[in-house]
Formats: sequence, structure tokens, C-alpha cells
Amino acid sequence: MRIVLITILFAMTTNCSSQEQDDKGRQKADNPYYSQTDTTHLDVSDAEWKKILPEDVYRVARKEGTERPFTGEYWDAETRGTYYCAVCGNKLFRSTAKFASSCGWPSFYEPVRPNSVNYKPDHSMGMSRIEVECARCDSHLGHIFDDGPEPTGKRFCMNSIVLDFEPDEE
Ligand code: FE
Repeated sequence: MRIVLITILFAMTTNCSSQEQDDKGRQKADNPYYSQTDTTHLDVSDAEWKKILPEDVYRVARKEGTERPFTGEYWDAETRGTYYCAVCGNKLFRSTAKFASSCGWPSFYEPVRPNSVNYKPDHSMGMSRIEVECARCDSHLGHIFDDGPEPTGKRFCMNSIVLDFEPDEE
């Protein structure tokens, strides 16, 4: 019931129609901060990110937006691989920690490293939630809830638009 209610509230508060994701290759080439190996913390202004990021990525990552459920690229993805931050390239999640969730957003029970993400209290939208941010670039990724599966019992409820997936090599 709680998941259904949260889903409805998320859907109601989404203020932008879903857009086709921009070409990820072009996006990375235009982004001088993108790196899958450099873990140094970035201190980049919103104004600069606005110039670099596609509008739909910027809206979620820097303005705490939420994509509509069941519209993102990865909510039901099952391919084995790694999910990186679409803003900065920070390694965030392995597909092995992804689970099938009825919420409509890609869901994971743990990040790839404990320090891959940061947590922040979020009291917006009349709800008390914990926001999940990329630890390298401070971008908004989604929220964490306590209704996930074992072994952690956590559900990292992420926005596909701020994730960048690379499949494992065969
Ligand atoms: Fe990031």
C-alpha cells in the first residue's frame, strides 16, 4: 500500500513529460567532468551543469526532479552490467544488486561501494524521505526506502535518466 501511495504521489508531482534520452555517447563527449575512473569530488556550479547536461538530465540531477514511473530506460532492465552516474561517470550500482520492483523505477538493494552515494533528509512534497545523491558530483539520483529485499532490506529507488549503463563484456 505504501509503495502504491508513493508511486501515485511521485506520478502526480512529476511536472514534465517523459522525453527520449539524449544520445549517451554524445552526452559524455560533451562533458569534460565525465570519468569512470577518477573518484575525486567535483565542485561544479549548477549554471555550468546546465550548459553541459541535456535538459531532462539536468532537471532530475540538479533540480531534484523525478521521471514518471515505468517510462525510464532501466526500470525493468535485466542485463548484467554496471550502472554509472550519467552526470559524472561515478560507479554506482551493479546489476547483481538490482531487483524486480513494482514501483516503476530501477531499484537496487545496495550501491557498488558504501561511499558511492550520499544520503540527505528530504522533506519536500509533504513527505519525509531520504534522498540519494552521487557522492562524486552531488547530483540527485533518487530516494532510499526500507522495503527492499534481503540482504539489506533497502530499496534504492533511482531515476533511469541519471544512470548510465554499461553491459558486462561476454
Ligand atoms: Fe555523479
